[in-house]
Amino acid sequence: LLKAEGLYKSFGKTHALEGAGLAVREGEIVAVMGPSGSGKSTLLHCIAGILPPDKGRVSYQDKDLTRMSDSDRSELRRTEFGFVFQFGQLVPELTCLENVALPLRLSGMKRKDAERAAKDWMARLEVDTVADQRPGETSGGQGQRVAVARALVTGPKVIFADEPTGALDSLNGERVMHLLTTAARETGAAVVLVTHEARVAAYSDREVVVRDGRSRDVEFAR
Ligand code: ATP
Ligand code: MG
Repeated sequence: LLKAEGLYKSFGKTHALEGAGLAVREGEIVAVMGPSGSGKSTLLHCIAGILPPDKGRVSYQDKDLTRMSDSDRSELRRTEFGFVFQFGQLVPELTCLENVALPLRLSGMKRKDAERAAKDWMARLEVDTVADQRPGETSGGQGQRVAVARALVTGPKVIFADEPTGALDSLNGERVMHLLTTAARETGAAVVLVTHEARVAAYSDREVVVRDGRSRDVEFAR
């Protein structure tokens, strides 16, 4: 479904990626592991079309993400991908329900329909109780589950999650991971999960390790 090969990315003198690659099959949950500063987030941003690599190829289905126009790429991100980050991705001025409905509203869906779909997803993530609260008024675990609901509401083919449980205690982390992976399995969405916690990676089908900007994805060998 998604394949990245030979990715290089530098920030000034810092070589964040030096030949990283990753392949993701449809519906597969892949954990990206590795020490702090090894390039995990940079790899995720490159394969998700958020950050252009200096060198290398990223293909999604048959399309080369690195050669697309910016508008095609953001359209693809909006329609095919969902994102969950460690924190700060919800709009503080909107209620949780409005946050979850937002991606649908941006695709032109009517408010009523968008909010109905948003409500469904919030119920599945067990956060319908905070629908009318603002993100700042929820607990960390609730906020992350709202963020997961927002990532899933558009029916993405791939969910990119960068340390989705990084700011949570282990109990809430487990709850977020359980609900995220269950929902992904049900909808057939693939998940690219960046984490350095083995307990979180245990929710994946397989692990890819990034070290010094390089990753070896054994799936390439097949
Ligand atoms: P962590 O586990 O701490 O999140 P990571 O594996 O996600 O680490 P990256 O964030 O990908 O690591 O960073 C890889 C390297 O690139 C680091 O040395 C980092 O300082 C550098 N880097 C990342 N983003 C930028 C940026 N926007 N500007 C400058 N340097 C950056
Ligand atoms: Mg990171």
